[in-house]
Amino acid sequence: MKYIGRVGTPLFADFAYFFWTMKLDFAQFYNGYHLLSLFFFSVIAWWIGRHYDDNRHLNEKLMEKRNELQSLLDNADAAIWSIDHRTNRMSLSKGFEKILDVSLQEAYTERTLWQKYLYHEDCHKALHFLRSYKDDKGEAGKTAEFRIVRNGQIKWVEVKLSSTWNEKGEPVKTNGIVLDITERKTSEERIKQLAYTDSLTELPNRTSLFMDLNKRLQEGKETALFIIDLDRFKTVNDSFGHLAGDTLLKEAAGRFKSALSKESGCIYRFGGDEFWFVCHKTNKVQLTLLAEKLLHTLTSPFMIQDHGIVITPSIGISTFPGDADSMDTLLMYADSAMRIAKEKGRNNYQFFHSSLYNKIQRKAALEKELRRAIWKGELFLHYQPQVDLATSQITGFEALIRWENERFGSVSPSEFIPIAEESGLITSIGEWVLKEACLQSKRWEQQGYGRFSMSINISVQQFQNRYFADTFKALIRETHMDPSLLQIEITESIMQNTQETKHILDQLKEIGVKVSIDDFGTGYSSLSVLKELQLDCLKIDQSFIRDVTTSKKEAAIVKNIIDLAHNLELNVVAEGVETAGQLCMLKKLGCQTGQGYLFSKPLFHQEAEELLVQEQQKMKIDA
Ligand code: C2E
Ligand code: MG
Ligand code: MG
Repeated sequence: MKYIGRVGTPLFADFAYFFWTMKLDFAQFYNGYHLLSLFFFSVIAWWIGRHYDDNRHLNEKLMEKRNELQSLLDNADAAIWSIDHRTNRMSLSKGFEKILDVSLQEAYTERTLWQKYLYHEDCHKALHFLRSYKDDKGEAGKTAEFRIVRNGQIKWVEVKLSSTWNEKGEPVKTNGIVLDITERKTSEERIKQLAYTDSLTELPNRTSLFMDLNKRLQEGKETALFIIDLDRFKTVNDSFGHLAGDTLLKEAAGRFKSALSKESGCIYRFGGDEFWFVCHKTNKVQLTLLAEKLLHTLTSPFMIQDHGIVITPSIGISTFPGDADSMDTLLMYADSAMRIAKEKGRNNYQFFHSSLYNKIQRKAALEKELRRAIWKGELFLHYQPQVDLATSQITGFEALIRWENERFGSVSPSEFIPIAEESGLITSIGEWVLKEACLQSKRWEQQGYGRFSMSINISVQQFQNRYFADTFKALIRETHMDPSLLQIEITESIMQNTQETKHILDQLKEIGVKVSIDDFGTGYSSLSVLKELQLDCLKIDQSFIRDVTTSKKEAAIVKNIIDLAHNLELNVVAEGVETAGQLCMLKKLGCQTGQGYLFSKPLFHQEAEELLVQEQQKMKIDA
């Protein structure tokens, strides 16, 4: 038989229980089991003592634990509270004083005091949450984050709730813990800011743009997308350095931001010199006004390093759901419209229009095909003779690229060269042209056709490539071309960046290469720049030659260009000579060289060889 004392049971009950379990009664006890009774008394005395000790010890332990817990709760950074719904008794830890900046006394006296400190925007959310302890029975706990305002400062708190219910489903107790998470929130905000803001302009960045745009479109909100690209921004970087470029971008961003109201939409920096404006309006009149406004913001020059720099934007606009029904198409259409704006002479805006679509699609498809054109052997050169007007003899050829594609057939260079320029393919295409033309020139020389100057067209983008001069020189070495027979044709637009142009031209001139200005008269050339650069030839644009016999004005322009060239000791080539009348006039005006259908169309190299043979035979007969 064994008796296990029950902690906390009243002494009398234990005693009675003991007698009952031992099957003893007082009569027997009294009738003289002395030894046994002595033994029993000792056991009882020992048991009572032990029981008392146990109880006291337990109480002490309990108190100790309670104090420990209280001190832990009071010293914790969190504020802990508990409310007994049956008695409506509330207990709060000292943490409340720290977080809410009120004394516990005040908090106990005015139980709803904390509600006064809720940040107005979060008030509804917080109250709703704190009153929701009755819901979601059985769930481990609920958490919410909201803001409170103390002493003019906003604090972020995280509140966790957990409740217990009785078997009737009534809430018995709710425990809560409140943590000050301001620091965590601040660093989260900072990280968010870094992730979603462009550090240079402080505008929202591309990540932010895609998120916001995607959200708008998913919500089916009408949206117009403006893609704003700064025209010739690269020139600013090249001429004034990247720091100046950065300053300009920063200032441009500031101007855009202040020109556009928040209600109209949000402007983002997409990257480089591209800004995107996600507009909340789609009405064409409003969009036109906004586009005009954006153009206007850049009209006054940017004062950077004491220079007044003027930069213009090209803007493409597409709308959702008017033009496009998805984000991809919206971007594609705005981008295409922007490219059309550039093609139309920059500093303007262009709305996407379905009629542009075929053009855009063709362009995209051409670009794709062009990427493979070199290794597929689809590119080849035509050579157009240049003729000495006095002797009628061929003095040189201009190499003109041709592209024969299996899908698109023959594509004009006027169409694919701009695509190559935009896509960067011009560098490899340009190198291919140079090599091919040099090899042809060399072959003609070796085959005894003679030594002719070879003119090669160089695009601005190709010329401005930092490796241009080195690659050029390397190709000349590789093909053993005589550099003095090589003439590069550059356009007036290259001269905008005089210092850089001069630096590259000087390197080419050093090895004896000649330089022509192509399509002269159609661009912008200042006389001082013409004098500064080491040029050899001006090619009068064919638009002036066309009417040289019929229009006095055109004739005067041609005469002036020829005189100017002579004064600067430059050669002159008239382009697009088609009639004997034009030839006659050009001779009269003192032009030395002509090129045009009157003499010959651009020819395959075999045709050019035939022409050279004919010329040689004619010369023999004349001799
Ligand atoms: P461009 O350099 O001014 O070349 C002259 C253009 O006028 C050529 O057009 C030529 O075929 C055309 N032409 C020649 N004589 C006459 C004429 O009497 N009447 C008329 N109406 N046209 C004449 P093409 O070959 O279509 O080339 C167009 C432009 O494409 C060239 O103009 C040049 O800017 C560019 N281009 C051609 N080949 C290359 C190249 O290899 N590289 C680069 N970057 N551009 C090239
Ligand atoms: Mg040319
Ligand atoms: Mg030309």
